[in-house]
Amino acid sequence: MTQPARNLEALMAEMTLEEKAGLCSGLDFWHLKGVERLGIPSIMLTDGPHGLRKQREGSDHLGLFDSVPATCFPSAAGLACSWDRELIEQVGVALGEECQAEDVAILLGPGTNIKRSPLCGRNFEYFSEDPYLSSELAASHIQGVQSQGVGTSLKHFAANNQEHRRMTTDVIVDERTLREIYLASFEGAVKKAQPWTVMSSYNQVNGAFASENKRLLTDILKDEWGHEGFVVSDWGAVNERDRALAAGLELEMPASNGRGEQKVLDAISSGQLTEAELDQAVLRLLRVIFQAVDAKQEGFTYDADQHHLLARKVAAESMVLLKNDGDLLPIEAAAKVAVIGAFAKQPRYQGGGSSHINPSRLDEPLQEMRKLADQPSSVVYAQGYDLATDETSEELLSEAITAAKAAEVIVIYAGLPDRYESEGYDRTHLDLPANQNRLIHEIAAVHNQVIVILMNGSVINFPWLDQVSAVLECYLGGQAVGGAAADLVYGVRNPSGKLAETFPLQLSDNPSYLNFPGEGDRVEYREGLFVGYRYYDTKNMRTQFPFGYGLSYTTFAYSKLKLDKAHLRDDETLTVTLKVKNTGSRPGKEIVQLYVRDNTKQVIRPDKELKGFAKVALEPGEEKTVTLTLDKRAFAYYNVQLKDWHVHTGTYTILAGPSSQQLVLQADCTVESTVRIPATYSLNTTVGDLLGNEDAPERLRHLIKQGLEGSMFAGGAEQEQNEMLQAMVKFLPLRALLSFTGDSISEQAIIDALDEANG
Ligand code: BGC
Repeated sequence: MTQPARNLEALMAEMTLEEKAGLCSGLDFWHLKGVERLGIPSIMLTDGPHGLRKQREGSDHLGLFDSVPATCFPSAAGLACSWDRELIEQVGVALGEECQAEDVAILLGPGTNIKRSPLCGRNFEYFSEDPYLSSELAASHIQGVQSQGVGTSLKHFAANNQEHRRMTTDVIVDERTLREIYLASFEGAVKKAQPWTVMSSYNQVNGAFASENKRLLTDILKDEWGHEGFVVSDWGAVNERDRALAAGLELEMPASNGRGEQKVLDAISSGQLTEAELDQAVLRLLRVIFQAVDAKQEGFTYDADQHHLLARKVAAESMVLLKNDGDLLPIEAAAKVAVIGAFAKQPRYQGGGSSHINPSRLDEPLQEMRKLADQPSSVVYAQGYDLATDETSEELLSEAITAAKAAEVIVIYAGLPDRYESEGYDRTHLDLPANQNRLIHEIAAVHNQVIVILMNGSVINFPWLDQVSAVLECYLGGQAVGGAAADLVYGVRNPSGKLAETFPLQLSDNPSYLNFPGEGDRVEYREGLFVGYRYYDTKNMRTQFPFGYGLSYTTFAYSKLKLDKAHLRDDETLTVTLKVKNTGSRPGKEIVQLYVRDNTKQVIRPDKELKGFAKVALEPGEEKTVTLTLDKRAFAYYNVQLKDWHVHTGTYTILAGPSSQQLVLQADCTVESTVRIPATYSLNTTVGDLLGNEDAPERLRHLIKQGLEGSMFAGGAEQEQNEMLQAMVKFLPLRALLSFTGDSISEQAIIDALDEANG
């Protein structure tokens, strides 16, 4: 149905100053204000991200009050392990449908903050430690939801990477790191998917609250990236309402009982804020409000059963098989199984806080396994541990050991209880509860066919890894986690997820370890660019499981990596092809990863960075060609002098393989920069910088060569000595060179040449 054309400027012209200021602060916890007399409706925005949390009565942003039943999909930490853009878009479509049915205009999510530390209590809600993967998947989520005429809110912008003091802490981060890691995770999603709204975070970034950070909200988000929607504050994140509005924050949430709009009105009457600035904000709000109005489908219903089935498929595609010695998994339907662990009956399938939803149904892992076994009675259960405490119950333990001894295969459900990780606080260690670790140790001591199924939102320690045969990581798999895990255990489906974050050998290996969560209200990101695998792989460190890692019940072979050109300019694209073959006996899916290494060594860079990926379905024996395209950004770093992305001319290596630490194919290409970095020369410019740079002014280069010829560095001695002299002279500034060149060149000649070079 075509919608009537609307003149929003004309509509705004009819609004009073008070109505305009009022529109910029919420009506209540979950609604914008409307202006009834002008036909501006009050729309609803609510959580998100992996399910709809529409509260029935009582409002809170901590997941305390009940909400309408909705499908709970895996949270982002799990979803990300699918590395599947299309599948995540399907999840988005389903979420959008549920919002349409419940009259929700904007779903608050996805969250695309970088997992800087495995301790962040909210890592379960974020995709990855890698900005490219994270922004690609966030874009798919947004595209899916918005295809249904429902908006999203990409959050939490920006650098909200810990829960500790999240509302006050100041993140001190250098410009390159901010751009290449923390903002890049948002940038790709904003440019590709245009979320209707972006949510500014609670914290400060380099001395200014995100909610009143003009650089972030206006200069970068709106002006550089072209964001067309509006910015909403995180709930209670506004510091000074008028300053926030001037910085580019259009909507304050939740309602501030008239305080917000009064501050805006006061600032306008005192001249600190102009009405034109307010109008810009109102126009952005009106655009989104009417976008929602026009897309509203009255009487919309959705199929909750289909959504549950989708949740099961997605959960299965997201689980990561971490270990499978002797191909213990999948197990036979006839096997006598002991299922151990309270999570088998009460799975942990979502995280705590604002994303906590009321699932439309919930699979019980134990029941789902019994449904797939030949005989339900061949799957026995023992609780093993008490979820409410870390203390071992000797009774539960010995019951579990007895059950284990009588079974052929043991499946232990373990993981982090709710109290261990949540929005609002961070963890202080990576351990499972002591009673679960002890249970696994003791069961593994009496049985050699032990499978551990993990339910946790983020990285854990595996003190028993060598003692068990198989480990399946479910993350927080949503309401169908039980069915999905059973599908993988019995081989109905083949695992195809890969880790979107590194599991280090120990917490102290993590690069943020020494500076997390900071001192008081200040956290310095001193590890800089070296987040996650960028650190581990550059330092060539062993990890428990590397970024991009995950096993399958089949095997894959990589071959024939080809680049469509060996040389390219930075304004051209490079097409990379390679072949991947299913060399095993089951259908399966492989996630092919492409990384780029900068060999120019002109600036400090990680060993390699992820720049492309594809998930490929293959029948046994089948081979497919994967094609990936790289553009300038795949080779570039953020140059703070140019205030732009830049590629140094030189050689780059393209690496491909099944994980960041198993890159089995590689090929080189050279990229030529089309941008010259303006240089200024002085008496402190070094000889090496001038002679090593063919673009440096010829007159200056010539003078230096002339000077060197008449100097003690002229050489003529033994080769070894010559090389030493060359190495030493490289770092000599021009002013010092003069002291060693006798009268072969004059200071004035150099000064004249410098003046000419600097124009
Ligand atoms: C969270 C947001 C959430 C909002 C509304 C805040 O505490 O940080 O992610 O969308 O509450 O519930």
